Amino acid sequence: MNEEANPEVWDVIVVGAGPAGLKAATELANGKAKVLVLDRKQEIGCPKRCAEGLGLKEFKRSNLKPNKEWAVQEIKGAQLYSPNGKSIKMKNKKVLGYVLERKIFEKELAIEAVRMGAKILMKHQVVGAKRKEDLKRESEGDEKGTGEVELLVEANDEIKKFRTKLVIACDGVDSLTAKMLDLNTKLDLRETDSGYQYEMTGISGYDENLLHLYFGTGVAPRGYCWIFPKRKGTANVGIGIGAFEEKTAKYYLDKWIKTQSGLKDGSIIEVNAGVIPVGGFLEEMQADNLLVAGDAGHMVDPVHGGGIGIAMEGGILAGKIALKALKANNFSKKFLKQYTKEWFELRGNHLKRRLKGRHLLEKLTDDDFNYLAESITVEEAIMIGEGNMTKVEQGKLFAKKLFTRPKLIEIMKKYLKD
Ligand SMILES: Cc1cc2nc3c(=O)[nH]c(=O)nc-3n(C[C@H](O)[C@H](O)[C@H](O)COP(=O)(O)OP(=O)(O)OC[C@H]3O[C@@H](n4cnc5c(N)ncnc54)[C@H](O)[C@@H]3O)c2cc1C
Repeated sequence: MNEEANPEVWDVIVVGAGPAGLKAATELANGKAKVLVLDRKQEIGCPKRCAEGLGLKEFKRSNLKPNKEWAVQEIKGAQLYSPNGKSIKMKNKKVLGYVLERKIFEKELAIEAVRMGAKILMKHQVVGAKRKEDLKRESEGDEKGTGEVELLVEANDEIKKFRTKLVIACDGVDSLTAKMLDLNTKLDLRETDSGYQYEMTGISGYDENLLHLYFGTGVAPRGYCWIFPKRKGTANVGIGIGAFEEKTAKYYLDKWIKTQSGLKDGSIIEVNAGVIPVGGFLEEMQADNLLVAGDAGHMVDPVHGGGIGIAMEGGILAGKIALKALKANNFSKKFLKQYTKEWFELRGNHLKRRLKGRHLLEKLTDDDFNYLAESITVEEAIMIGEGNMTKVEQGKLFAKKLFTRPKLIEIMKKYLKD
């Protein structure tokens, strides 16, 4: 393999052209930084590892407006199915979110980043990263570094070199870039889910304006199966389960699909698999010359596993802090620490509370789920779905329902305390 001699120099290099990386790059380019995005894939947004659901609030937080080209299905609520097949339907009159066509959505983010002045290189895989002080130390025994990073990037059977003062690692759940720069982003298996999904067509039997979630230890241990409708008769049909389960996510998904009359004769037009970091938040999301955002920084909602919106928010914040670092010409871990602090204020603390909520939900048995589904009336479900109940009102409602189940009351109390 050839090795290029003269490295290209950039203000900031973003590794990964997913939602986190593209938003970070847009923020930086908007602030007039010279920013390069590298991605190992041959096409942005493809293959997707995602059910493509995005709530309306997430659009607002990331300054995005839904566009019919990629926000392909309006979603007005959810239908939750208990293990015995009983369901609670929570449908709003208003649109609460969308199912996206991520391939088009992410290309749109990429076009915007480039329009702002960023440069993107596809089929460029980061295979090595070293701080210049390490390089100098190796060649000259010099302990004093200038704080630059050199990235080794494999592209078209060549190793190219790129230099920068700051790397933003947005390289997803299997991120190696942060580890190469000595930030430990190892996943905790107990806080990791395995996801498996088919995009299916020729299917029926579900309301196409709702997300459908199916619970039960036999259906999806520590998780759920889903139908996220995309267009008429087409949907993402998937599963997320604890990564430590003995049987695979595919095993549970195939088994469940066979039990669903509207799905079992459908055709699979795409297969997706991926790992979801649903907890195990990082206490430090920076090191010298490094910030980490999106899945690479475990920025995912621990209850439902959604990460597109949170990744974009993380990317935007990383871009803002990077601009401050450029202005101050300071890329030290100490200076960049404000990123972790601001992240926890912005979203991280909320996600930590959601993680506690998930740990409480994990204590529910199939019988508890069945009981809840039986006790909530259609009117109450609509009230919750329409957002007409505060958290305290919801607590009172559940307490009333659960008075015969002391264990559930304890769980609810703990949830409300946070
Ligand atoms: C089955 C499944 C279903 C999901 N469903 C939803 C959902 O419905 N809604 C939702 O909000 N979230 C969902 N998620 C989570 C969501 O997909 C992620 O949280 C989101 O994609 C994170 O964005 P990101 O930019 O951090 O990382 P990614 O989108 O993973 O992007 C990382 C990029 O980095 C690149 N890369 C990696 N290593 C290197 C390297 N060494 N050099 C160069 N490039 C590299 C990759 O090619 C990739 O393009 C789901 C996840 C799974 C697995």
